[in-house]
Amino acid sequence: MVSKKLSTVVLDLDNTLIYTASDGQLLSCGNGVSSTNIGSSNIASGNSKGVSSNSNTAISNNNKPYDYSFFINEPHYSNYFGYFRPYMVDFLRLLPDYFDQIIVWSAGTTDYVNYICYFVFSTVGYVPNIILARDSCVKLANGKFSKPLNRIFSDFHADPNRTFLIDDSKFSMEPNYSSNCMLVEQPYNGELDDCYLRDVLIPWLRATVAG
Ligand SMILES: [Mg+2]
Repeated sequence: MVSKKLSTVVLDLDNTLIYTASDGQLLSCGNGVSSTNIGSSNIASGNSKGVSSNSNTAISNNNKPYDYSFFINEPHYSNYFGYFRPYMVDFLRLLPDYFDQIIVWSAGTTDYVNYICYFVFSTVGYVPNIILARDSCVKLANGKFSKPLNRIFSDFHADPNRTFLIDDSKFSMEPNYSSNCMLVEQPYNGELDDCYLRDVLIPWLRATVAG
């Protein structure tokens, strides 16, 4: 039983750390798993469904190979391909120095989120403590998803005074105290010259969290 309250970072994925495009079909493949706790060997837990991945083969419009590509076959066949935000690896490798617990919480579907986490964290070299997907979010009246941190505080022993949600959507933050939220004011859409992580988030980490 854990009694100590943990300093915790809660990370959004899309437009915060990565940019993913699809072949035009909507993401609609949630499979009812509410959360996934992963170890070092089973990060791609969606793999039992005939899904395969194939990184670094697709080429984008600007001729830079995508950082990752994969497809999901349920309930509709969809190709996904995308980029890591520049300086993503540097940023993520700093986090264990500042936080006891690293949580990914995306509004994407479970299969999608597990695949993205596989590509991201196999590049970074560690795995997050917890991965949460869309079915852990709360759907708002406008159709957007929020991420109430109360669940993180109660279920995962996060310290309310030392927990930060980093997200590009203000809707994700709606039920939370602003002191727990770091809004990414410059969403990432695949630009190769993006410097937001280097120029804003890493300095914020060093100044705010360390302070
Ligand atoms: Mg996002």
